[in-house]
Amino acid sequence: MILVEEALHHILEKIPRLGSQRLPILQARARVLAEDILSSRDIPPWDNSAMDGYAVRWEDIQGACREKPAVLKVLGDLPAGQVFKGRGGPGEAVRIMTGAPLPAGFDTVVQVEDTEKDGERVKILLPPEKGKNIRFSGEDVKAGEKILEAGDLLRPAHIGMLASLQRSMVSVYQRPRVAILSTGDELLEIDEPWEEGKIVNSNSYSLASLVSESGGIPLQLGIARDRREELAAKIQQGLVADLLVTSGGVSVGDYDLVKTMLNELGRMNFWKVAMRPGQPLAFGMIAGKPLFGLPGNPVSSMVSFEQFVRPSILKMSGHQNLFRPALRAILREDIPKKAGLVHFIRCRLIPEKGKVYATTTGEQGSGILSSMVKAQGLVVLPREQTLARAGEEVSVILLDPSIFHLASPPFLS
Ligand code: AMP
Ligand code: MG
Repeated sequence: MILVEEALHHILEKIPRLGSQRLPILQARARVLAEDILSSRDIPPWDNSAMDGYAVRWEDIQGACREKPAVLKVLGDLPAGQVFKGRGGPGEAVRIMTGAPLPAGFDTVVQVEDTEKDGERVKILLPPEKGKNIRFSGEDVKAGEKILEAGDLLRPAHIGMLASLQRSMVSVYQRPRVAILSTGDELLEIDEPWEEGKIVNSNSYSLASLVSESGGIPLQLGIARDRREELAAKIQQGLVADLLVTSGGVSVGDYDLVKTMLNELGRMNFWKVAMRPGQPLAFGMIAGKPLFGLPGNPVSSMVSFEQFVRPSILKMSGHQNLFRPALRAILREDIPKKAGLVHFIRCRLIPEKGKVYATTTGEQGSGILSSMVKAQGLVVLPREQTLARAGEEVSVILLDPSIFHLASPPFLS
């Protein structure tokens, strides 16, 4: 028997981070940055107006008021995107639009609402403070500043920032390609005619979806029957991927071909992990590629994926934090348990008045896929824990963050 944390430690030690690739920035969202980004210039690059109004010298308008306005000569109109060639002198102003560079000689912008046009002149009715209504050069980003860092997860604002620095391409970590193979004589493909005694291969689909959800690229190898050549050929085929995941045939005490074959092909460990579901787990390297042999039961394969494969995919993709968010929840029912194994209990989560309550999805058998459909989280009951009681606070791995989504905007509730 191996502890969950020991298995995880052993696995992550062997999992490499993949190399980087250059991508157009619009394809880089949700990827991990593989380079530091330094700003090549100040943003904004020059002092510019934050308002439609008049660029003025503050000393000319000090003390002006509605009754005694300062009257200035308007040298011209300056739309955004253009540069004023001249220089402002005493008693002068330039009509300026939001975003236009502040012409030399001026130090303040008066918003248009506080002025009155008078032919070639403008009356300043209400002077702002000195330096007001100006966005100063470099106030957002300074030239040479490290604005994004290798390891950053790229969100929409990051993509906008890259665009404002005129970076159309960016270096990110590669997405791992993950080959998925289901094994077993009893399996039927999704579009094959239904046959008595057969089981539809659902694992390939749940696992492929878990791979995409984790940011990997699934590669379907289909089903390998329990025959040596077929298994070896499929695994060979899977070696084009960065990581291989099989399901079925690794159960403890199983007299299964999968184990024998994997052992012949590479250096494998066949563990009994101190967890439920998902006790049997194979992990090793085949021709330099990590391979996970997950148990065949639909729930076990998904829960094992959550614990071991997902963090591996995240590590390969350059992520720094490899694990799903966890939260504390209050049990709404007793959960019987014996000491010895960590239990991952499928649960519904009910957020209520700042607290979260958890109820089990009912029958926890490892073949009950509908319990995974219902599950919004996994209650983690530690190895030594026995009966967990209603009212007890427990740790929950959050599978479905949408439970915190709102039906109406938060400012209305
Ligand atoms: P095994 O680990 O190969 O002994 O399989 C355990 C159980 O999981 C058996 O009842 C299988 O029918 C079921 N199972 C195995 N592979 C799959 C699969 N790809 N899709 C759905 N169920 C599966
Ligand atoms: Mg089998």
